[in-house]
Parts: sequence; structure tokens; C-alpha cells
Amino acid sequence: MNAEIQTMTLYKNCEKTLQNAIPCVGVGLHSGQKIHMTMKPAPVGTGIVFVRTDVTDKDNRIPAKYDHVVDTRMCSCLGNKDGVIVGTIEHLMGALNGLGITNAFIEVDGPEVPLMDGSAADFVTLIECAGVMNQDEPVKALKILKEVSFDDGKGASVALLPADNGMEIDFMIDFPASSVIGRQEYSIALTEDSFKDSIAYARTFGFAKDIDMLRSMGLAKGGSLENAVVVDGNKVLNPEGTRSENEFVVHKTLDAVGDLYQVGMPIIGRFEGTKSGHMHTNMLLRLLMADEGSYEIVTLDEYDCRAYRSNRKSA
Ligand SMILES: [Zn+2]
Repeated sequence: MNAEIQTMTLYKNCEKTLQNAIPCVGVGLHSGQKIHMTMKPAPVGTGIVFVRTDVTDKDNRIPAKYDHVVDTRMCSCLGNKDGVIVGTIEHLMGALNGLGITNAFIEVDGPEVPLMDGSAADFVTLIECAGVMNQDEPVKALKILKEVSFDDGKGASVALLPADNGMEIDFMIDFPASSVIGRQEYSIALTEDSFKDSIAYARTFGFAKDIDMLRSMGLAKGGSLENAVVVDGNKVLNPEGTRSENEFVVHKTLDAVGDLYQVGMPIIGRFEGTKSGHMHTNMLLRLLMADEGSYEIVTLDEYDCRAYRSNRKSA
């Protein structure tokens, strides 16, 4: 008898990877380049790691971590110590967070993740086609113990607060100059189902008046009505319109789900975003991780057990 075999457990909240590698092709939002991407299985403890297959003379691996973020102007862009970068990672990171994928290699042959239709819907489909595989290790999560916040002094702010279980997101945007957007608020508890049904579909958006300026900065070369909602004053220029009235604030929620996953594990806490963007969320994660008293690392199984027992006692 081998006692070790009997101790092998498939944890309920286990680490997960892809069952098979899955490729796709698409255009990069800012480079305008056609990019091949392959998502691949990775061992326990890997996290999400981007691999630039077109870079062979330098370190081509870039971990998807908040302290590797090098640019947040129009997307979340990661870089490593050799200066090798990968941009527009946030919607894919949202899908990986939403679907609970803890370990994966993401190979790209250019400087960006393909934008696909501007949402996370295609990434969800790709992950589901590849299949999800449980790994023999319980998931660790970062539990928020006290409020951490960042206010840019110009009306935008972000905060992480303690929450009983899982991740909750509250987002507010306000674009008074455009009646199609206006003020929108959205709240959701993040689960695999809520991500797939209510968040993944929402496309990135931009303003027609900004497009020339972005292009002159070398950005948004791949942006089009095929992969972004473009707003011109009080109109949406896309012939099909929006996918929902609140697609704008839901997309900001998707960005937050993706950016928060750069902490390297799921968060047990409540995120509040007010008119915020990638820069604010990254600043918040840096403040959080610099303050050891603001969080603890828990394993999800233990956490769930404790929550269950205390609920029964108070009932
Ligand atoms: Zn986005």
C-alpha cells in the first residue's frame, strides 16, 4: 500500500490550467499588427506568464504581475527587466480571472494580445474549447483586511475593502458630455457564471474626437468599429449600436477584473472604482502590496470552511 496515493485530493477550489493548448489570431489595438496567440497549460504555481515567441535574443517571459506594469496610458502593458513588453492584456486577464484559470502560458508573436471584438467573449470561448483542468493544489487567495484606497485628486478614485466572501465590484462612470454614456453605475459579485453571463460581452469604447490624437501618438492603429464602440458626441457610430445600455460601465468592470488579477491570485474583497482607469487600479495594487497589514493570503478551502462554521453558529 502506498499511503501517499491516498492523500492525493482534488480540492474543490483547486488551481486550474487549460487542458489543451489553443491558438487564435487577431489584430493588436495599438500596434495594428496581426498577432498569433496560443494559450497553453502550465504547472501548479506558475501563475499567468506571457511569452513573446518573436523575441529570441532576450528574456521573453513576462509574468502578469502588478509590479511588471510599465504603461497604463491606454491599456495595461507589462514589461520585464530586458525591456520586453506585452500590452492590452486586461480583457484576457479578465477572462482568466473570471474562469478561475490560475496557471497558463500565453504565447504571442508581437507586442500585444489580440483585441478580438474588444470584449472578453472570444477568450471565454477559447478557454472553454481548450477545456479547464483541475490541478492538485488548493487555490490561494488574497483576503483584504482593511481599506486601501487611491484618489488622484482629479475626481477619480479606487478602493479595496474587506468583504465576506469572494470578489465584489462596484463601478461608477460619468461622461456628462455624452448622453449615450452619461452616468452609469454597476455592481456585481464575481463568479464564473456572472463573468460569462454579465461581464464578458462588454466591448472597449473610445471617442471619435480622440482617435486622431491617439494615432498621432502611435496608438489605436488597430482600433475600428469591428473591435470598439466609438462614441461621437451623443451618438454611437457602430451600425449595430451597443450590446446593452450600460455596456460602457460593464466594460470598465471587465477591465477592473483583469487588472486586479495582476495581484497573482483571486481577491476576497470589494473593489470600488469611480471614473477610474488602468493607472488607478495599478496604483491601488502597489499600495495594497506595500502595506502588509492590509491583507492576508488564505487558501480557499480553509477560508470556505471557516466561513461555513461561523455562519452556522450565528444562525
Ligand atoms: Zn478595456
